[in-house]
Amino acid sequence: MNHNKNTLLSSPSTSTATATATSTNQLQLEPEIYQPVLNNENHYVDNIPSTSWIAQHNGIRCECGGSRKNTVYMTNPTFTKHTRTAHHQKWLEQVNTNRLNYFVECQRLKICIQQQQRQLVEKDNLLVQKEMIIQLLTKELREICREQNDKGSLMLLDLMSFD
Ligand SMILES: [Zn+2]
Repeated sequence: MNHNKNTLLSSPSTSTATATATSTNQLQLEPEIYQPVLNNENHYVDNIPSTSWIAQHNGIRCECGGSRKNTVYMTNPTFTKHTRTAHHQKWLEQVNTNRLNYFVECQRLKICIQQQQRQLVEKDNLLVQKEMIIQLLTKELREICREQNDKGSLMLLDLMSFD
């Protein structure tokens, strides 16, 4: 998995829109989650993307919560207005207070993702092995059925389409 989702609190310009499958199995692009940026003094500050950037990313949503938790902002001015609310400013203050915790959490998540990737590869390999065993056993079973002229079982094997 090389298309890492945005690292925590990275610049919006480095992030990508995510897609989720809806109940009808259609891909629907999700709005981008807003992330403040680090300034020269190592403080997270608001950095509102342009309206065209927001449009390209299917809108922007803020994680600061509050009454506008699920609001998707579609333009720079509407989102800028949101970032000036007391609730958002308080959230930004907390982001700065918890900076180190976010970093530690980010490292923990990276390790967790690596472990899960390894587990996935292991499971994939196991699955390939099992498929090979099934193919081999099916072939042998087919030969036995042919020798015994067991047409019923042969038909069943064909129906199950094991090769
Ligand atoms: Zn906000």
